[in-house]
Amino acid sequence: PGGIVIVGAGQGGFQVAASLREGGYAGSILLLGDEPVPPYQRPPLSKAYLTGKTDAVGLQLRPESFYADHRIAVRRDAPVVAIEREARRVRLAGGEAIPYDHLVLATGSRNRPLPVPGADLAGVLQLRTLAEADAIRARLAEIRRVVVVGAGFIGLEFAAVAAARAIAVTVLEATDRPMARALSRPMSAFFRAAHEAAGISFAFGAGVVRILGEDGRATGVETADGTVVPADLVLVGIGVVPNAELAAAAGLAVDNGIVVDSQLLTADPAISAIGDCAAYPSPFAEGAPTRIEAVQNAVDHARCVAARLNGRPAAYTAVPWFWSDQGPLKLQIAGLAVPHDETVTRGDPGSGAFSVFCYRGGHLAGVESVNKPADHMVARRLLAGRIPLAPQEAADPAIDLKARLG
Ligand code: FAD
Repeated sequence: PGGIVIVGAGQGGFQVAASLREGGYAGSILLLGDEPVPPYQRPPLSKAYLTGKTDAVGLQLRPESFYADHRIAVRRDAPVVAIEREARRVRLAGGEAIPYDHLVLATGSRNRPLPVPGADLAGVLQLRTLAEADAIRARLAEIRRVVVVGAGFIGLEFAAVAAARAIAVTVLEATDRPMARALSRPMSAFFRAAHEAAGISFAFGAGVVRILGEDGRATGVETADGTVVPADLVLVGIGVVPNAELAAAAGLAVDNGIVVDSQLLTADPAISAIGDCAAYPSPFAEGAPTRIEAVQNAVDHARCVAARLNGRPAAYTAVPWFWSDQGPLKLQIAGLAVPHDETVTRGDPGSGAFSVFCYRGGHLAGVESVNKPADHMVARRLLAGRIPLAPQEAADPAIDLKARLG
């Protein structure tokens, strides 16, 4: 018997292994990763790791001794290149075959490449892995001007770190506002103003057409209207692509992620998929296929699959939540705030600490909070309990939301 094999030794893959043991699983567990380092957390890569507040050991999800102590076999630099479903085994790049009883795909996502000339010049960097963070960190002391392509979470976290070091930062964004895919307009507007006050320049509606270079190194970025913004370093953060090719090649359904059911199982009863790579029917999206790039999602997915493999099957119903630290601004999101058709603000944006309650079809869909952790915690519980809260109540600071939790 092959026991449980997990492809991808990141946040979700690690958690499946840990939760399996915690739940009493006694069989073999093998974690196959394609990176050269033990499982680590990515969020600090664009925050504390860049500022030097933590190091590579501080990023590790567990000390290396944990894996031996819990009989979790970990193989690094071991990319899986094929799944042979009939034989129930996976194939490694070197040709080795590894059998499984159950396979968990936790392959995550990769950065979307910028499809313009010059994107391969030295000094054009992306940020997903420890190796990429090291490449950026090594250059922070010498650079004076950076261009960030894409006003998403990672781009803005990096922009805030760079601006705090007195590096001139320009953010080029194709849409009309920051974090447009994930945030309400009022919260976007707040972040734009706050980042501008911290010295970050934005250009919206700015499509990048070319990266200019000299001697193989990037020197600037050209946008569709012919503007050239000079740069010593270009950070590209234009979203991710789920790592779903392995599943697709094995004949499993893929549609913006590996398609799984409410228990995170693919159509093959011996294969589950979790985390950034999985598209699951979320009760917080009225059952629509949903793919979420967040630590909470990977961890709670992992726990759900581990519980099933330990004989306690249940549908996945956890409330999605997310955070992003951008300089002094701590953004937290509970639920799936986008899309929405109505928003109300609780608290004064001018104070730098407030929340936006987002409604869809008359129901609370999600809550965005900045520097308001208490609102965020209440929101998670309101959403989990499906406790009704009318927009005018959410907006009224005299109403104690905690009292609603019962
Ligand atoms: P990952 O943790 O990415 O792990 C997947 C692993 O699988 C990778 O190591 C990958 O190399 C490996 N792999 C892929 N294919 C194969 C293969 N064929 N064989 C073997 N291994 C393979 N989320 C938040 O909630 N808050 C944040 O503030 C936040 N900040 C972030 C900052 C950065 C810079 C980044 C990159 C991400 C951030 N995230 C944040 C997102 C969060 O880190 C991810 O959602 C989470 O790591 C997803 O876990 P996962 O297990 O699905 O994928």
